[in-house]
Amino acid sequence: MSVWMNFLAQMRHQHLDELCEFLRIPSISSLPEHADAVDEAAQWVASRMRLAGIEGVRVLATGGHPVVYGEHTHATDCPTVLIYGHFDTQPVDPVDRWEQPPFEPLIKNQRIYARGASDNKGPMLIPILAVEALLKTEGALPVNVKFLFEGQEEIGSPQIPKFLDAHRDMLSCDLVVSADGVQWAADQPAIYLGFKGICALQIDVRGPDNDLHSGIFGGTVQNPLYALAHLINSMRDPHGRICVEGFYDDVRPLNEWDRQQINAVPFDEQTYQTRLGVTTLFGEPGFTTLERAWARPTLEVVGIWGGFQDEGIKAVMPAEAHAKVSCRLVASQTPLDITQAITRHVLRHTPPGVVATVRSLDSHALPYAIPTDHPGNQVAHAVLKEVYGKDPYYVRLGGTLPICEMFLDKLSAYTVMFAFGLDDECIHAPNEFFRLQSFERGLRAYGLFLEKLATYPQRKQ
Ligand SMILES: [Zn+2]
Repeated sequence: MSVWMNFLAQMRHQHLDELCEFLRIPSISSLPEHADAVDEAAQWVASRMRLAGIEGVRVLATGGHPVVYGEHTHATDCPTVLIYGHFDTQPVDPVDRWEQPPFEPLIKNQRIYARGASDNKGPMLIPILAVEALLKTEGALPVNVKFLFEGQEEIGSPQIPKFLDAHRDMLSCDLVVSADGVQWAADQPAIYLGFKGICALQIDVRGPDNDLHSGIFGGTVQNPLYALAHLINSMRDPHGRICVEGFYDDVRPLNEWDRQQINAVPFDEQTYQTRLGVTTLFGEPGFTTLERAWARPTLEVVGIWGGFQDEGIKAVMPAEAHAKVSCRLVASQTPLDITQAITRHVLRHTPPGVVATVRSLDSHALPYAIPTDHPGNQVAHAVLKEVYGKDPYYVRLGGTLPICEMFLDKLSAYTVMFAFGLDDECIHAPNEFFRLQSFERGLRAYGLFLEKLATYPQRKQ
């Protein structure tokens, strides 16, 4: 065991005490009455970073909840990593479902229970403590390290794009490493290669000036509900392939290696089907369920309304009909291109007698994909293999993590997800917890990650 690992082992009790102290701060970013607690959490993080030997530590204003920055950049001719995490938390409701008060941490059965334990206070403390162990035992770091911790992740990081724009030089790096995220399972590591982007829009169909008596006027004018149903139906063939012209044009195809990696992840379609309570699975032909969920774009109708909705019958043909559509995008689709393609499709397929319009809803993010063989992924692979004794899976996520694309856009650096939470740890729910085993494994993994990163050539993206 190396000296810094010994140091970590000796500090174990103190580290847990410190994590408890951090978890006692009720830094809920969405509730205005907790804004002071978010500030207090920022100050706590800043002091702990200073204590670790990290330099230039400061709490910076964003116009919303603050961020904490710090650095240690004395490794000449070595790569620079920017480590990311967040110190804000979700609200605690329903609070009566907690077995102990959410901000009174409890260690039980090798787990630490509290709001924010897994998302993200436990995992974001790890890199600070790992850097401290290296600095206190070796007096130097193998690479240059910068830290960016934010206090508004749980509300969608509204001020972060502007903050990144304004601090490009301070934050410049070869690679971002995210301490926010998850591993695959307690005994199985994973490397995340991509997250889907998103765009959402509303389709409004208008027919007659007013609702019409369906007896007197029925059969003489186009019914907006029929027209909307026709439009929606025209967007997808009966097998699940999207028929919007141009929809797949920019999709980066999966190669053999991609498909092998996705399908190497144990996944039972029957179990999935049973879990969801459906009679059969459905989706774009030519792809497995995991490929569809992780690596193919989707267009889903997420809401549809119009006409009489109450009990009984009202003999009326509605003047208008509406639907909301949400698309999940993969590299290299963009929300703008897809919104335009759908708009063109709607205009082209609108039946005579109604007018259809499409408007973009306030939900858009670019998809994110990191090259599989990115040096950061290679280092992560080597470390995860050493720490877990197993090769990591190469996985993706159907969901959207806009911060990775923000870093790529603003700092021209890819993000390696290197985080040690697990998705069964009641994140955002009552009785959130973090496994102590993950805490210890994460500390070791971060130390090794920084050491091994030094052997990789500096590479500006
Ligand atoms: Zn969260």
